[in-house]
Amino acid sequence: MKRIGVLTSGGDSPGMNAAVRAAVRKAIFHEVEVFGIYYGYQGLLAGNIERLEAGDVGDIIQRGGTKLYSARCEEFKTEDGQNRAIEQLKKHGIEGLVVIGGDGSYRGAMALTQKGFPCVGVPGTIDNDIPGTDYTIGFDTALNTIIEAIDKIRDTATSHERTFIIEVMGRDAGDLALWAGLAGGAETILIPEVDFDMEDMIDRLQKGKKRGKKHSIIIVAEGVMSANKLADMIQGKVELETRVSVLGHIQRGGSPTGRDRVLGSLFGARAVEVLLDGPGGRAIGMKNHQVVDYDMTKAFTGEHDTDMSLYTLSKELSI
Ligand code: ADP
Repeated sequence: MKRIGVLTSGGDSPGMNAAVRAAVRKAIFHEVEVFGIYYGYQGLLAGNIERLEAGDVGDIIQRGGTKLYSARCEEFKTEDGQNRAIEQLKKHGIEGLVVIGGDGSYRGAMALTQKGFPCVGVPGTIDNDIPGTDYTIGFDTALNTIIEAIDKIRDTATSHERTFIIEVMGRDAGDLALWAGLAGGAETILIPEVDFDMEDMIDRLQKGKKRGKKHSIIIVAEGVMSANKLADMIQGKVELETRVSVLGHIQRGGSPTGRDRVLGSLFGARAVEVLLDGPGGRAIGMKNHQVVDYDMTKAFTGEHDTDMSLYTLSKELSI
């Protein structure tokens, strides 16, 4: 391969820029030309493609978001869309593609690979929900953003003796809620992986109050229910007054943590090595502290392993 492309797709995550930078510079290191494709698959179809030099990815490692921008593209899900994407790539002489995104982006990348155009996937999503990798780029930054918010909310919750319900991202995976809940000392953590048990939750809140707790923090992943709905449900059932905080998109932004920058760098560089070495269809990840590559199909058909020992531990500690 003498020319490759790189794009970011789907939901953005902090650390994607580190992955873009690493992919571009690793390719240049191997004397391979790199083209940046702007706005994901949508930009690919539109031919929004530009050559990137080493300097073009300077001064981005510390920035959240993605220099290549991101988009969602319905058209690309069709056979016709995918064929036109390959035409665009060929028109620019591009022979392989690094796709940085979540499972939807991986499905698109695999579709191109199956049509004979090699793609390698890099997991960029704050949700940490890609099967086959222990961590995704952006999870650590989002986690720390949530912890900072919990710490601040706890101050005011204590001052006014309130129960706070904090809603965090995570439609299908509870990793953010779980890790943030444990790290933030939440009394209750509600995640999609565990059936909601109203009685247990009320019981824990009441026990805490009896023991003299001045506040309660409940972390709820958006996939369980909205914080407002939960507040309505517990209305009148707990002594402490209830307040709601929905963290929303602040969880997606911000300067990436050191960990996400390192992960982005490792993954972006490895993706280029794997793309130059083989037929594509591989996903990059971290397993037991080692950077690995594996069949990309596994990343959207397999099951994500949420570390349930954290859930058990948080229940034991938040008494
Ligand atoms: P993420 O990559 O963060 O999971 P999405 O699920 O929105 O985000 O996917 C991003 C883009 O990937 C979609 O807008 C679409 O262009 C492409 N994509 C998603 N699912 C498929 C699919 N089944 N086949 C082909 N392309 C897909």
